[in-house]
Amino acid sequence: MQTYKAARKLVALRKMEKVERTLGLIKPDALLAGHTGKILDRIEAAGFRIVGLKLVHLTREEAEAFYAVHRSRPFFSSLVGFMSSGPVVAFVLEKENAIQAYRELMGATNPAQAAPGTLRALFGQNVERNAVHGSDSPENAQREIYFFFSEKELIPIHAQIRAQV
Ligand code: UDP
Ligand code: MG
Repeated sequence: MQTYKAARKLVALRKMEKVERTLGLIKPDALLAGHTGKILDRIEAAGFRIVGLKLVHLTREEAEAFYAVHRSRPFFSSLVGFMSSGPVVAFVLEKENAIQAYRELMGATNPAQAAPGTLRALFGQNVERNAVHGSDSPENAQREIYFFFSEKELIPIHAQIRAQV
């Protein structure tokens, strides 16, 4: 009974606050350079709540499937080679307007053009090895979240704590 009430309150809270979810990755360049802690620290400091988190080493085929929309682009082969060259950190973030807000925290695709203080300006090396990924629309966020996570692996800890108050 208690659990049922808390769960209903949680759903109501998320609707009321227009909380969105987005999928983020720390790419192999930034992970292998030891930037994981610094990047997650900046994400939490910006008010995002982490509801899913794991290390994954993608196969080339999985990287191709993840980036399928870019299949015909000239950088596709190099990109999937890079993204399957080492592990990534995959995470799901929750926040009001999370998709756009996390794109802003990441900065422009090319780190050389990314605004100062953004993750790509701070940790990216070049237009391919740009440290982080973030979903770009609600449809892609949904697809990308379930590419990496099952429902059981998504745990909205912060919302659960508030729903119990
Ligand atoms: N990319 C690349 N060369 C380019 C453009 C993109 O290697 O000229 C890579 C880069 O790693 C980028 C990813 O392909 O993050 C996906 O490209 P997209 O245009 O979707 O950029 P994003 O959404 O990541 O900013
Ligand atoms: Mg993109």
